Amino acid sequence: MLVNITYRVGWGAANPRSKKQMNEPAKRVVIHHTAIRSGATPQDCIHQVTRIQKMHMKDRDFDDIGYNFLVAQNGMPYEGRGWGIVGAHTKGHNQDSVGIAVMGNFNSNEFLFMVLYYDLPTSAALSSVKRLLLDGVSGGWLHSNYAIFGHRDLANTECPGDKLYPEIQRLRSDRD
Ligand SMILES: [Zn+2]
Repeated sequence: MLVNITYRVGWGAANPRSKKQMNEPAKRVVIHHTAIRSGATPQDCIHQVTRIQKMHMKDRDFDDIGYNFLVAQNGMPYEGRGWGIVGAHTKGHNQDSVGIAVMGNFNSNEFLFMVLYYDLPTSAALSSVKRLLLDGVSGGWLHSNYAIFGHRDLANTECPGDKLYPEIQRLRSDRD
């Protein structure tokens, strides 16, 4: 394991209503953002992850938190559904993909109290995503020749935001 993960038990995840195993290693990775500002402390991050799970299960009626993993700006990855489980993050593309959300708002056109506000992805978060993907391949959860997308490549959405999207090309070339 290249990366330390805060597993579900570590952030106090609610049990999923149901879960579906993938039949084979995932062929695709889809990068998202959470579109809310990343917490500053580990406690803030845990609070956000639990809030996202509640929102996904109550408001969106998902069986669990939608993402397979979330990665905070300080580089800490949080287990969402985890490896080998079908997520709910990219409609029509969940069966063979792993959804990873970088925590933060990377849209460059959002205003908060009249002030343009966005996060920039940290190198800690990006290298953590990279190591997570390496772990996925070495653990057999991710096909060694996986393709990597931004959510916006597969759906009509701004996700993962203008400030994160260009980094996906870098993740792609680092892998090759
Ligand atoms: Zn997304």
